[in-house]
Amino acid sequence: MSFADIDMAHTLTVNIAKAGYSKPTPVQKYSIPIILAGRDLMACAQTGSGKTAAFLVPVVAQMMRDGVTASSFKEQQEPECIITAPTRELVNQIFLEARKFVHGFQLKGEGRVHVKSRVYSKQAIWAASVTQWELEFKLMISLRNVKYLVLDEADRMLDMGFGLEMKKLISFPHMPQKDKRQTLMFSATFPEEVQRDREQREREIALQDF
Ligand code: AMP
Repeated sequence: MSFADIDMAHTLTVNIAKAGYSKPTPVQKYSIPIILAGRDLMACAQTGSGKTAAFLVPVVAQMMRDGVTASSFKEQQEPECIITAPTRELVNQIFLEARKFVHGFQLKGEGRVHVKSRVYSKQAIWAASVTQWELEFKLMISLRNVKYLVLDEADRMLDMGFGLEMKKLISFPHMPQKDKRQTLMFSATFPEEVQRDREQREREIALQDF
């Protein structure tokens, strides 16, 4: 798979090229088609593997395809994509990456799509660290419109003792049920049972190739 194989708006193709990404990294190669097919995903990826774009590219591609309506932002913010990660630094990296991809993305009504940052009045993508989301999301936004929920570095959030925060986010008032949203979870490690299951499936997939 190359970026050219993805059915996406021209704006996004241009933004990816401008970011200097000529070909997808392995995690992008595997994750992007699954996310574009509307499926949930649990992926094992280290920092530096290109995992941020692995979820941002297909999420933004789907948002561009379906359109984001300006009216949904009128009074309370109603983002379509919520991302949480262990630290504010990581959230900031995600924010910078997301901003590259949404460049020039027009809302269905007036205005452009913005990412995070409270000062903007129209935001489609929100990212907050697991220690901050309650504060940021509770006060500023409604989650009723969420279509994409991303838990980045989920294992690190658990290791830092934020399992309860993650559970609370998933069951936060108005968060759409799991069949009404896409949940994308990235982790550098997975429990052994999951790992075994994955290796088994990989062997099955490898055999199918023959
Ligand atoms: P990440 O694992 O998401 O933190 O990404 C690590 C670095 O790789 C970041 O600086 C990205 O901008 C960069 N990157 C992500 N995807 C690609 C790609 N397909 N080609 C070149 N660089 C990339």
